[in-house]
Amino acid sequence: MRNDPDMPIYRKGFGLKDEVTEELQKEYRSAVIQYLRENGFSLQVEGLRILLAKEFGFCYGVDRAIDYAYETRRMFPEKTLYITYQIIHNPRVNSKLREMGVRFLSGGEEGDRYSLDDVTPDDVVILPAFGASMDKMEELKKVGCTMVDTTCGSVMHVWKRVERYAKENFTSLIHGKYFHEETIATASHAMRFGEGRYIIVRDEQEAEYVCGFIRRGGDRVEFLEKFANAMSSNFNPDTDLVRIGVANQTTMLSSESLHIAKMIQEAMEDRYGAEHIKDHFRSFDTICSATQERQDAIIELGAKDPELILVVGGYNSSNTNHLCEIALRYAPTYHISDVDCIVSEAELRHKPFGEKEEIVKQGWMPRGEVTIGVTAGASTPDKVVSEVIERLLECRGYHLEDVIGNVPALGA
Ligand code: SF4
Repeated sequence: MRNDPDMPIYRKGFGLKDEVTEELQKEYRSAVIQYLRENGFSLQVEGLRILLAKEFGFCYGVDRAIDYAYETRRMFPEKTLYITYQIIHNPRVNSKLREMGVRFLSGGEEGDRYSLDDVTPDDVVILPAFGASMDKMEELKKVGCTMVDTTCGSVMHVWKRVERYAKENFTSLIHGKYFHEETIATASHAMRFGEGRYIIVRDEQEAEYVCGFIRRGGDRVEFLEKFANAMSSNFNPDTDLVRIGVANQTTMLSSESLHIAKMIQEAMEDRYGAEHIKDHFRSFDTICSATQERQDAIIELGAKDPELILVVGGYNSSNTNHLCEIALRYAPTYHISDVDCIVSEAELRHKPFGEKEEIVKQGWMPRGEVTIGVTAGASTPDKVVSEVIERLLECRGYHLEDVIGNVPALGA
């Protein structure tokens, strides 16, 4: 079952899917959501209409990662299990893993943080859906522990792309967040071959700064200070912005990623001439299809004119934050991490887009007739979305069963 007999790394599960399915369904799935998916993605009672996005919740990468984590617990019931970071950015899922005895090497909570020094060759370490850096992999190999790698195929696709840039002597320009685990791992792969180099730009403003340097050159010291945390240690803006390949963190705002690629291309054309662009510029859209579908679905939902939109998901989830960014174009939008954020019809806890801390909003739900749009990030279980819908109905005095009756059980 191991891919390489010399390396204790499992990448294909343990064939225990059937044994964990029931538990996974109980923890994360919802018959109510299945019913709503099959019945128009909407629910209406007097005074309240709830519209669900056509795509939301767990993506294929998250599904697979959680499945492997549960299979790993079954496969190694007596072993100490670690995970390099949160398996996905969802508090409920991570706390469930903690209950199953999985220890966090980073991203854990107070009193629940372990380090690589704690890991022994007898232990098992899970790598999360967004992967781990090459340095981290090397460290774990040195320990000699067993590894279960749940890295999503779409993330590995980005790694292959930046590795190719490195082989072709192109600098990887990554649209992403330099502190995000996926981008840290991608950056490490951009250094894998030859004279690999990378620079990470977070948004169009940073891309514009790089474009200015491509066109006219500039203050090297200022450049190095500005991107101090977001470039390879050997980076030289005078020589490393001559051949650029663009890639992106899989969960970024896709329209922004495409625009940044275009900005870089135009800067290269201005500097070297459109006829030489192939020698100076490469681009490949590496937004994953799940992210794209969820972003398209919130646009479709927004066009239906809801009075407000609830986006459900972990506050540190990149794709969930981008859903908020899009939703805000259409209606007041509240990012909530779980159902308990809906305190009452009057009070709601939420994280405003672009902020780090949760705040309390009074009078969030308009009185009288209201249409509320609901979506959820790729790391949010259906069960949480179902509970949110139930709570919305309760705010208006309805019980879910009275509204939709007894829905068929999952798998029935
Ligand atoms: S958001 Fe995309 S890249 Fe990330 S785990 Fe899901 S499918 Fe994979």
